[in-house]
Amino acid sequence: MIVQKFGGTSVKSVARIKNVATIAARAAASDPVVVVVSAMGDTTDYLVKLAHQVCHTPNRREYDALLATGEQISIALVAMALNEMGVKAVSLTGAQLGIITESVHTVARIVDIKTDRICRYLDEGYIVVAAGFQGTTPAGDTTTLGRGGSDTTAVALAAALGARVCDIFTDVSGVYTADPNVVSSARLLKEVAYEEMLEMARVGAQVLHPRAVELARKHKLPLRVRNTFDPDHEGTILRGADEMEIHRAVSGVTMDKDQARLAILKVPDQPGIAGAIFGALAEHHINVDMIIQAFHQDRSVNDITFTIKRSDLDTARRVSEEVAARIGAEGVMADQDVAKLSVIGASLMDQPDVAARMFTTLGEERINIKMISTSEIRISCAISERDAERAVKVIHDLFHLDDNEAG
Ligand code: ADP
Ligand code: ASP
Ligand code: MG
Repeated sequence: MIVQKFGGTSVKSVARIKNVATIAARAAASDPVVVVVSAMGDTTDYLVKLAHQVCHTPNRREYDALLATGEQISIALVAMALNEMGVKAVSLTGAQLGIITESVHTVARIVDIKTDRICRYLDEGYIVVAAGFQGTTPAGDTTTLGRGGSDTTAVALAAALGARVCDIFTDVSGVYTADPNVVSSARLLKEVAYEEMLEMARVGAQVLHPRAVELARKHKLPLRVRNTFDPDHEGTILRGADEMEIHRAVSGVTMDKDQARLAILKVPDQPGIAGAIFGALAEHHINVDMIIQAFHQDRSVNDITFTIKRSDLDTARRVSEEVAARIGAEGVMADQDVAKLSVIGASLMDQPDVAARMFTTLGEERINIKMISTSEIRISCAISERDAERAVKVIHDLFHLDDNEAG
């Protein structure tokens, strides 16, 4: 069987819902099909806005109950469109699909999928139209998987059902060397290693949800990114690094504007302090990325600076202020003007000049680097948001990513 996932832009209007139904019906002629859909267009953004108009910090359970309604509209409409074409289809919500998650709201992880109901419908020849992005706790409360989480629903269903492939249909033709809506010369990548894609997704390549890539890698599931508006195009296939035919130093450049940084000033230089700070943030499900602990002239204290998602800033600042007071730090400083620019490549480790060339080029462009972090396959710089798009373009040019031969 196969799983096909359609994002928000793919189901934005009645015409597009009919297009989705046509693609799914065509696939169903040769394979049992599960279709996963997101909410129509910007519905989820609209629901988020509504929640914040009602209250400043919405109750997380109710927030999930609200956000999950977006997908419930689109599944019903896609199932109706299929029925209208004479194709048997049934819509199922997260709970009806048997998607069980942790009891954590807004960023829940899937822990189990009870597939009996889905299998029964597939056996009876139905296309199952599944709501992305949502699940249920064992106690029956609705949860969501984090923004962009429909990709994860699709991959988790594909893995649980033993699908031969999971196709993520979106509004671009696959994974590019940079966001094609920002860098016009970005080149489509025919294949990307799971590891590279995971890193790209984590640092801002919105095209796939990081957890979806993680799951696909774990289950060695062929995951393809394809274009809803050009469904015959092959798109991009994700595979293990060892199966890749092409090896390149740099695969892509990403940018993440949803960033902020916090500095905790004059933190006492004692064992256990970093654990106290980052433990408190983790309890609030706040992911921290770049971390710098810097010397102070006064040897008994350090400054600890780290980046977080901008949408987590209010909570992270509050938690950091509480911890700062508790451990006797001087205070907390916040900077909202942060974007993260990253270069990703499976063999970056073997290319020590990549980082140097990246920093030099940013310097020549008068783009100031606020923080740096590196991993085996990624180099990231925190820069000012106003420099972000220019930075992606100059770094894309620097590594000739538009050039096939450089691939
Ligand atoms: P969907 O609603 O289908 O889930 P998303 O908006 O989540 O779609 O993801 C698709 C978007 O991801 C594209 O429109 C593109 O602007 C953006 N994007 C960012 N980086 C990349 C990249 N490296 N390759 C392809 N698309 C990217
Ligand atoms: N509708 C959800 C969102 O906008 C999930 C998704 O699109 O993947 O985040
Ligand atoms: Mg998406």
